Amino acid sequence: MTSRKIVINFPKDLIDRPIVYKLIKEYDLEFNILKASITPDSEGIMVLELMGDKKKIDDGIKYLKDQGVKIESLSKDIKVNWDKCIQCGACVSICPTEALYISDRKTMKVDFDAEKCIACELCIRPCPPRAIEVHYTT
Ligand code: SF4
Ligand code: SF4
Repeated sequence: MTSRKIVINFPKDLIDRPIVYKLIKEYDLEFNILKASITPDSEGIMVLELMGDKKKIDDGIKYLKDQGVKIESLSKDIKVNWDKCIQCGACVSICPTEALYISDRKTMKVDFDAEKCIACELCIRPCPPRAIEVHYTT
């Protein structure tokens, strides 16, 4: 099971069609709607998290594109807001890639190496002051 976040932008004539529903029925995918809106010129924009088998996600995305839906992948970056961080170290033991690490053993200063981060989000919840943030970009 894998997941992928996408932004889908569909034209007026597709708004009433159950294209997203077909992703569940025919491609065996689960999804979360993270955001949905209809713009003034009646285009629909939806941010979806698709979950399921990788190949089925690819096939489902191909199906959407074949229907005339524009798709953009949403990538995410993890950032630490150092103004909020209280240097408690709770994230360090949780991070599977050592992207969050102790950079100074004497002061136990916590640091972040973005190159090592795989954006798994395991560190988000355990951070008491919510100093770790997810930023999405297309
Ligand atoms: S998102 Fe995952 S890999 Fe990145 S810093 Fe947090 S726990 Fe580590
Ligand atoms: S858990 Fe949050 S507050 Fe604690 S060291 Fe990590 S980023 Fe800083």
